[in-house]
Amino acid sequence: MARTVRFLTYEFQIRAMRRAHSMTLQLKHDKAFVNHNWVAAESGRTFQVFSPSSEEVVSTVPDMDENDAAKAIQAAHKAFLTWGQTTGKERSVILRKWYELLVTNQEELVKLNSTESGKPLCEAQAEVSYGNSLIEWFSEEARRIHGQVISSPVKTKEIVLIRQPLGVVSLITPWNFPHAMITRKAGAALAAGCTCVIKPAEDTPLTALALAKLAAEAGVPPGVINVVTCDRPGAAAVGRQLCQHPLVAGISFTGSTAVGKLLYSNCAAGVKRIALELGGNAPFIVFSGADLDKAVDGAIACKFRNSGQTCISANRFLVQEDVFDEFVNKLEKKMKDLVLGDPLSTSSRIGPLINLSQTAKVIGMVNDAIEKGAEVRLGGKLATSLGQRFCEPTLLLKVDPSMLCYNQEIFGPVVVCVKFKTEEEALSIANSTKSGLAGYFYTNDINQAWRVAKALSTGMVGINEGLISTAEAAFGGIKESGFGREGCHHGIDEFSYVKYLCFGLSQL
Ligand code: ADP
Repeated sequence: MARTVRFLTYEFQIRAMRRAHSMTLQLKHDKAFVNHNWVAAESGRTFQVFSPSSEEVVSTVPDMDENDAAKAIQAAHKAFLTWGQTTGKERSVILRKWYELLVTNQEELVKLNSTESGKPLCEAQAEVSYGNSLIEWFSEEARRIHGQVISSPVKTKEIVLIRQPLGVVSLITPWNFPHAMITRKAGAALAAGCTCVIKPAEDTPLTALALAKLAAEAGVPPGVINVVTCDRPGAAAVGRQLCQHPLVAGISFTGSTAVGKLLYSNCAAGVKRIALELGGNAPFIVFSGADLDKAVDGAIACKFRNSGQTCISANRFLVQEDVFDEFVNKLEKKMKDLVLGDPLSTSSRIGPLINLSQTAKVIGMVNDAIEKGAEVRLGGKLATSLGQRFCEPTLLLKVDPSMLCYNQEIFGPVVVCVKFKTEEEALSIANSTKSGLAGYFYTNDINQAWRVAKALSTGMVGINEGLISTAEAAFGGIKESGFGREGCHHGIDEFSYVKYLCFGLSQL
């Protein structure tokens, strides 16, 4: 099709969205989940959850406060007294059952996910598979949480290190991956022997409730997983409780850098363990000599996943001058094939942005760049025929450091291309940010691959690869992107501590 971006007609879209969203979702719940009970907020307050595409109300859930959170923490504490004593094998069996139920209910989880997050079905499918695989992974890791016997310097002492669960942990999660951000944390926490209180994002609490329901069905005991829902205005008070309650041992957070810093300081008073996975500003470098077709495919996958609302999305495309025009032309061609539309339609590749404030932020950055002289090669505005949250896939050239899109995490389907001359210059631009989550580069020079991989100031690097998330690998950042690792065997480290046992022996 010759059109720049293929839009389906407005009326057809709206009708299709309404039909799909009115389908019954068996796993959709309208109460919070504490100690295996479906509970309302003590105050009786509720808040609405919207579909980002149809903008209709999908559900209403409890708007809980710090007192409700305290009850959940107490339930988790009581449960820890027994769950913390189970063997790795016992926990493994239950986690495996949870994984199997997640797989059995995959279709429904995908629909729920797409409905509340607005991500296209194919992407919701990918997220649910990834999220499920994390429970599978941690069901296996639960049996491999080992200690160590250290060689002693003296005959009368034996030194043994064992790993113990932290206790009650609070898990605060974002809306961009409503399933996987919970399973990546809760899988590791439960495998380690911790119990948890989850506070999902206000935009996407339904997946969290569905996951908890299936965990209970799988045999996770009462109080081991609790879900406290609350609207945005109450998040600060609930968040403070989840960090500072004396019965909470640690917290794991994924979200914005600003909120992460606040939680970090909240945790200081009680010297609580904390793991933070915060915003990124990923460079995507294309060196001359790279396989440009592969680089373009990687760029599309990396940038447009979840409409660019991913903390490891490529944010700044740095392209060496002699391949700049060719790369940009190839990328533009592929971008024209991205279908913007209803997330519940199988033909859609890009859905709406999550909410109006996110949409305003993305379009604000695009307008700022245009006003300061950027060239719009493609897109550049909202697709208002589809609603208020659909942003056209946008390609911006001639960007410079004075523009917001050059410096800040865009979190939208906007590609920003910058030309560079030398490897040194590319690295200097790539590392000139406070963030350090993921970085990507394409090269066919093995020496350059090793050199640049080591020189990038990020916690993760994709080398000739744009999709890097997998349960087996350690996910996490450096600098203001946070600390702590998720997935991999390192995921368990965040929810356990090393205890040193010194055995004093009689003289032999
Ligand atoms: P985003 O800007 O992408 O929504 P946030 O960091 O604001 O990212 O949100 C991530 C999670 O943090 C959500 O669950 C949100 O409700 C929660 N949150 C927001 N503000 C606070 C706060 N002050 N204390 C604790 N949690 C918060």
